[in-house]
Amino acid sequence: MERAVDIRSIIETKRDGAALTDAQIDAFFAQLADGRAADYHATALLMAVFLNGFEPRELERWTRAMLHSGDTLSFDGLDKPVVDKHSTGGIGDKASLPLAPLLATQGLAVPMISGRGLGHTGGTLDKLEAIDGFSTQVEPDAFRPALEELGVVFAGQTARIAPADRTLYALRDVTGLVESIPLIASSILSKKLAEGLDALVLDVKFGSGAFLPEHERGAELARTMVDLAERFGVRTVALRTNMERPLGRAVGHTLEVAESVACLRGEGPDDLRELVLALGAELLVAARVEGGRDTASARLARALDDGSAFERFVRVVERQGGDPRLVEEPSRLARAPRTFEVVAPRDGHLAFADLRAVGAAVAALGGGRRRVTDAIDPTVGVVWQVVEGDFVRAGQPLCTVHAGAHGADQARTLLGRAFELTDEPRRGALIVERI
Ligand code: URA
Repeated sequence: MERAVDIRSIIETKRDGAALTDAQIDAFFAQLADGRAADYHATALLMAVFLNGFEPRELERWTRAMLHSGDTLSFDGLDKPVVDKHSTGGIGDKASLPLAPLLATQGLAVPMISGRGLGHTGGTLDKLEAIDGFSTQVEPDAFRPALEELGVVFAGQTARIAPADRTLYALRDVTGLVESIPLIASSILSKKLAEGLDALVLDVKFGSGAFLPEHERGAELARTMVDLAERFGVRTVALRTNMERPLGRAVGHTLEVAESVACLRGEGPDDLRELVLALGAELLVAARVEGGRDTASARLARALDDGSAFERFVRVVERQGGDPRLVEEPSRLARAPRTFEVVAPRDGHLAFADLRAVGAAVAALGGGRRRVTDAIDPTVGVVWQVVEGDFVRAGQPLCTVHAGAHGADQARTLLGRAFELTDEPRRGALIVERI
């Protein structure tokens, strides 16, 4: 029946600002899958969507078509609620590493399918692979046994999950069409909904290190994704969180693994712990394991402090082929050959002027990639000695840079751009809104 729908008429409908019918959306995705829709057709339609947006019904249908363009996981019969979190990404955002094993200790199943880092942020997969031997290549059949045994599996996205998103994202990336709220929401959720979830928490960042820095756009993205996921029957909450400063102190792959281990041991930076507890409490409540967020958070804090979350992480590392001694003793993780410090040029309170420059500095050292196939050096990065708002004297170290063979001068210049020293302390709340 969709054969009657001409691709040009679909593009014209959206170009002229009208809503696409379900039949038009289904026809577009059918033609994308079998090659009748060329890249230029798809790009023209994406541009029309970018300019004219979607009504909620269209967005749902579009997302459904992307979701069903590939395989979906089903955990029917698993006697644990299936949950996940998604973050829009940011500098030093390693929350998934402690959060997944922590939730698993509370009887939840977390099939965490993550991406690689691109641009100025690092990806969860890359951080885990900084642990020698850790493999994130998990076949769909291997998910259920891992979830039954340990309640968590960290995996890369396979070509079989939402392949239409892969095609469309690649086109958006090279044609200036990434920053569209409906296109971002459908892209993210088509992949998350493929995991067969009962509940989802979204960490939507704002600030200079965020994917969408402006508050209003971030809030709109959060509302759009919550509404969309709920339409698919997944209980969903979004927290809008601060990315005007790095999360925690460490930025860079092995450095972030070490900081995640500290969090799992009940130590580490306060903001990382606060975020992990807040995101985790939302999921315990949404999965109906706990009645209220305060009791859920207290329960999770106990699992960090009594060693059970850490013990679970060690078992996950071992099960996925990683060397558990490296997380038991993070000082054994590979280290960059040299370190140097960036010091305060004058007295003042540390504030971040442009957090993307911190990500760019780590990338310049070899810790980031432009293309998904680029190799990275997991050992390089930055560890902040002071946090936003702290008072420092001229000459006092602000951060330690872990460097390899190249990029040190560029990193120093970029880090110089990243911060300023203010007369009054500035430190905004970590979590500003719950949606
Ligand atoms: N991440 C995604 O997976 N898709 C987008 O469109 C943007 C960020």
